[in-house]
Amino acid sequence: MSTRLSEPGTITNAMTVDVEDYFQVAAFEKCIRREDWPRWPVRVEANTRRVLELFGRYRISATFFVLGWVAERFPALVRDIGAAGHEIASHGFGHERLTNITRDQFREGVTRTKHLLEDISGTAVYGYRAPSYSIGPTTLWAHDELREAGYRYSSSIVPIHHDLYGMPSAPRFAFFTGRAGVLEVPVTTVRLWGRNWPCGGGGYFRLLPYAMFRRGLRRVNRQDRSSGVFYFHPWEVDPEQPRVPGVTLKNRVRHYINLKRTAPRVERLLGDFRFDRMDRVFLAPGRADYPVVSLQTAEYRVQ
Ligand SMILES: [Zn+2]
Repeated sequence: MSTRLSEPGTITNAMTVDVEDYFQVAAFEKCIRREDWPRWPVRVEANTRRVLELFGRYRISATFFVLGWVAERFPALVRDIGAAGHEIASHGFGHERLTNITRDQFREGVTRTKHLLEDISGTAVYGYRAPSYSIGPTTLWAHDELREAGYRYSSSIVPIHHDLYGMPSAPRFAFFTGRAGVLEVPVTTVRLWGRNWPCGGGGYFRLLPYAMFRRGLRRVNRQDRSSGVFYFHPWEVDPEQPRVPGVTLKNRVRHYINLKRTAPRVERLLGDFRFDRMDRVFLAPGRADYPVVSLQTAEYRVQ
């Protein structure tokens, strides 16, 4: 019997969704002012419900990193995510990249969002994901603030080079941050030809052939013997979303390419691998043997 296809193995990966709307992404921040957000047609509620329906069909539980801005407007959506057996986690309040705000503003945002999500869902919120994976060399204080605010884990670092984010020197797999003791679970990369390549979702998942992506995640499960972390956004399953004018070609490609392929590809992924919530995959008893790593803050030369 061939085992080439659909060989789940024993390793369970984490499925995650960053719950935000299409007009809140970093790629559009130069075209859409924050104060104009309320003018754009909201699609996040209907799109997140599509995702819930899809996960329901495959009977998988996932982690939803919900933006406080969304939770405040759609509390019933947050309750329904929790009622369907998924983990409610925090994506901060207003989707500001950490590199663009002060430490005080960060603290206020993650605290406010945690309380908001807990009040709505009636469950404790332990997980956090930074907008645009913006925990990096200049924002490592974030882990201390997360611990102070009561978070237990973060999934906010991508150990690759990228124009908007990335910390190539960070570990590829889960580790306790040295000072804060918060568990950081980097988004999945695959190690090939001496460097890390993205294998966690987002634009790459729509751009690259699915078979290539599957090979990468299999490699992580079989050779690294590690769980992967996959992510996508509700706006990625919405090819009909309004087009934002004035966007650069690069950002247009990044945001709009192959949107119609996301949902069918996620379905293939759900058929090819095992998935569960972040907390069950990474915080389960008996899984506390992660290394402790102190990340180095970037040094700056004063000119
Ligand atoms: Zn986001």
